[in-house]
Amino acid sequence: MAQITLNNVRKVYGGNIEAIKGVSLQIDDGELVVLVGPSGCGKSTLLRMIAGLESISSGEIAIGDRTVNDLEPAERDIAMVFQNYALYPHMTVYQNLAYGLKNRNTPKDEIERRISKAAKTLEIEPYLQRKPRQLSGGQRQRVAMGRAIVREPAAFLFDEPLSNLDAKLRGQMRIEIKRLQRSLGTTSVYVTHDQMEAMTLADKLVVVNGGQIEQVGSPIELYEKP
Ligand code: ADP
Ligand code: ADP
Repeated sequence: MAQITLNNVRKVYGGNIEAIKGVSLQIDDGELVVLVGPSGCGKSTLLRMIAGLESISSGEIAIGDRTVNDLEPAERDIAMVFQNYALYPHMTVYQNLAYGLKNRNTPKDEIERRISKAAKTLEIEPYLQRKPRQLSGGQRQRVAMGRAIVREPAAFLFDEPLSNLDAKLRGQMRIEIKRLQRSLGTTSVYVTHDQMEAMTLADKLVVVNGGQIEQVGSPIELYEKP
């Protein structure tokens, strides 16, 4: 568990595109913060900088009490969930869940313990020996979440994880993600351009526009204002 702090973070692409213009933000321990805003406003850039997938041009990012500016993604104690699932097609669900843990030399009995716990939580126990192509979209999305959960990270980073699903499933999955995040109590940053998704999920909404934070507040505070 950890709080995430951004202190006057800037991102300049290619020497002249100022994608993020001095953003400061605190995400409290256990909180689910949604970054919402139109395409091109800088949401993914912010998320990718927290993940360490994009360098920051100036400022500071801290996860817990560590400044992570110079840490590789794998050293940041975070797990990402993407829209394209990023599952390995030739591996079983079990192997997909185990993969990241094996790479970190997690003992085998610990891997089994974590997978069995996550599989129960996500209700994917019957599918552990299947390949991703033998799963529905919703099941695949659950496995993608499972890969993040078994890492037991300090924070989850969600990059538009539901945008490939149809409307009905998207509605179900956002309720599930909310329930899961509540029960695990893991600090989460969630990026979406979908206002409905943002409102359903967020403890705190951060409205991004033109590389800057325009508003911060609870869904009620932001959407019940005239
Ligand atoms: P969003 O996630 O809100 O759609 P992005 O963070 O992807 O926005 O993009 C923010 C701005 O930075 C946009 O103007 C985009 O064109 C620009 N941008 C994003 N990635 C790159 C890149 N690798 N090189 C140059 N410009 C980029
Ligand atoms: P590897 O193939 O890398 O040696 P393992 O020995 O961990 O992997 O597992 C072999 C097979 O057994 C894999 O296909 C995995 O899906 C399955 N498996 C291992 N442990 C479990 C378990 N506790 N529950 C379900 N399936 C398991």
